[in-house]
Amino acid sequence: MFDVRNLIAGSHCGARAGRTLPIAEPATGARIGAAPASTGEDIDAAVQAATRAFPSWARAPAIERGRLLERLATLIEANLERLARAESVDTGKPVALARRVDIPRSAANMRYFAQAMQHCAGEAHWSDGASVPGAAPALNVTRRRPRGVAGCISPWNLPLYLFTWKIAPALASGNTVVAKPSEVTPVTAHLLGELSIEAGFPPGVLNIVHGTGAEAGAALVMHPGVQTITFTGSTSVGRWIARVAGDAFKRVSLELGGKNPFIVFEDAALDGERGAIATASRAAFTNQGQICLCGSRVLAHRSIYERVREGLIARARALKVGDPRDDATEFGALVSEPHLAKVARCVDAARSLGGRVLTGGSRIDPAHIPARCRGGAFYAPTIIEGLPPGCTVEQEEIFGPVVTLHAFDREEEAIDIANGTRYGLAATIFTRDMARAHRAGAALDAGIVWVNCWMNRDLRTPFGGMKESGVGREGGLDAIRFFTEPTNLCFALDDSV
Ligand code: NAD
Repeated sequence: MFDVRNLIAGSHCGARAGRTLPIAEPATGARIGAAPASTGEDIDAAVQAATRAFPSWARAPAIERGRLLERLATLIEANLERLARAESVDTGKPVALARRVDIPRSAANMRYFAQAMQHCAGEAHWSDGASVPGAAPALNVTRRRPRGVAGCISPWNLPLYLFTWKIAPALASGNTVVAKPSEVTPVTAHLLGELSIEAGFPPGVLNIVHGTGAEAGAALVMHPGVQTITFTGSTSVGRWIARVAGDAFKRVSLELGGKNPFIVFEDAALDGERGAIATASRAAFTNQGQICLCGSRVLAHRSIYERVREGLIARARALKVGDPRDDATEFGALVSEPHLAKVARCVDAARSLGGRVLTGGSRIDPAHIPARCRGGAFYAPTIIEGLPPGCTVEQEEIFGPVVTLHAFDREEEAIDIANGTRYGLAATIFTRDMARAHRAGAALDAGIVWVNCWMNRDLRTPFGGMKESGVGREGGLDAIRFFTEPTNLCFALDDSV
């Protein structure tokens, strides 16, 4: 059983009101622990601790802050197996995926920002005075300083991966943090809190408060002591945060939902593990389709449509569904029963709109699942064709193992369908024609465009979406700029003063 606790001012504690939330294992439905059901009171205590810790953390040399982040990265690596197993039990994702992606990336987030801060140069602008008549020549030096207490709110699909993606740049650049992980998957954030104590972070620098979005999350967003909010989650919650934060002039970064197109042109390499079909299958079904970057709409040129469709069906049927803790499992459970019910409703809606379900389309028959997991939230990888691009199922994020197929005849038509939603997070193009890749890549409404690959991430690059997929960019210098406040100092180079 996991006894998840808050981390406030360097100590573990329960919620002040004494309430807890149950933690369930999605693959079995069994209860596996409890987490604090924190309220505004707990958030306030955490913000006060972070406020007290801020001046000395902000003053500490970047190299010292970096050393602590590096130590935490090393501890994550040393605990890789324990963290991967915990992540798998808590989310339903295959342990092999957590071991290969979630946990190594969490360590990489820490290490990357620890090092990136050491290489951040300030900016200097030499002014010759010519732009303003009579002005002296001047030297402008732009300094950046940390903004204070950062509120970091993260979702359940990549729990430790996204949690660390937020707190690493916040801490590296000298902010203190109050972080609220998803109440659906609180376990690895708690374990990270333990590791942060072992790494030697000063009390109050990293505070972790568990609880629901409506109570703990909203209290964090509204707290007057938190002027910086970074949020990853649904577009509807992001919209509320934008409104509340806007009113209080807080700085926000919002990483929200997506409905990402995966476009396969007629000249694309289709076969092989790096070809379009295998990549589209991974883009559709990795983590049971619960990644904001998943390619949920495959658009294939009519001349190759049949091959793409048959290839995707064959791959979906061949995925090894099983107990997430089994090393060989490729496809595990959805995160919860309520989420499975939402996915099932979307597939029912697709049927009623005339969609043809080519494979999947239902809960997996418990007879095909190991006995331990028969009470789990397993939904079959699902492929649907025949829906009009404007219908609700093609417009709304499903966030599950459901992909729809479309045939197109012309490049412009593919771009129109791809851009025809309110989202704009990521897109993938498969083609051998690099002129077309450049043209289409520039025309797509997406913050991230992959050409002949998917989810190939370099942590230095800007990450985020346009339209209703978000506001701002994370990663690299964008993240460090977000968490710091520039002050421009202008020195007149004037001999007379
Ligand atoms: P969610 O919006 O329900 O919750 C996300 C986090 O916000 C949780 O910690 C939750 O407790 C908290 N929260 C909920 N209501 C809140 C409120 N009123 N105030 C403050 N915090 C609140 O999202 P989810 O279901 O956990 O995650 C799935 C969504 O996240 C999908 O839409 C997915 O596309 C999106 N996502 C986006 C990215 C990205 O980088 N763009 C990455 C991963 C997931």
